[in-house]
Amino acid sequence: MYEVVVLKPGYATWVGPTQQHADGTITLVKGPKLIIVDTGGPWNKRFLQAALRKHGVRADAVDFLVCTHGHSDHTGNNNLFPNATVILSYDVCQGDLYTFHDFQHGQPYTIDDDVRVIPTPGHTHQDITVMARTPDGVVAITGDLFESADDLTDDNLWRSFSEFPDLQARSREHVLSQADFIVPGHGPMFRVKDRRVVHSATPSTPDRKLLWYILVPLLITIVGGILLMLVTGQYHW
Ligand SMILES: [Zn+2]
Repeated sequence: MYEVVVLKPGYATWVGPTQQHADGTITLVKGPKLIIVDTGGPWNKRFLQAALRKHGVRADAVDFLVCTHGHSDHTGNNNLFPNATVILSYDVCQGDLYTFHDFQHGQPYTIDDDVRVIPTPGHTHQDITVMARTPDGVVAITGDLFESADDLTDDNLWRSFSEFPDLQARSREHVLSQADFIVPGHGPMFRVKDRRVVHSATPSTPDRKLLWYILVPLLITIVGGILLMLVTGQYHW
């Protein structure tokens, strides 16, 4: 059995129409093997070293470094783990020795009986997810397959960053059917409450706004009209 420790939950905050403060989630999976999943942006070096010390983990003792995909906010500190077998997207290597693994055709990579790495493409064409069995249930560490818990009810949150949205929708569905908890790429861990995939009506917010724009003036007109009729005495029972 394993313990999943989120060392740093990722985040993403828009600060302008084309700019976002963002960092990827960094996770430690502790058990018979030591596994790090994603290493955040390069600015996290000191933070990550301190977090490892706090949890009694020596970086050179980490067995596996898994990067869910190759984006800069998920791979910034990979060289802190010189002895780890690296699984980054569909690449698997130990030092400079590369082993070809058939993620492409859905083959999971087994770390041991309780931890598997499965292909979950969509955000990029080679995303992977770590599935770890813990005493509380199965935890899926997904990278940007899920941006945060909010993207379960707002498709736009993940679709706007997706290279292959249809593929990603299928990968999301698969992970939701298997996991009890999800550690997303840019938010805190959350519990899977509903295994059905919720396809939010994407324009739900504008729709609601539109309703207000029509309903509120209509109500004002009707109520105002009645009042006006009463006041001017043009309306009699
Ligand atoms: Zn990404």
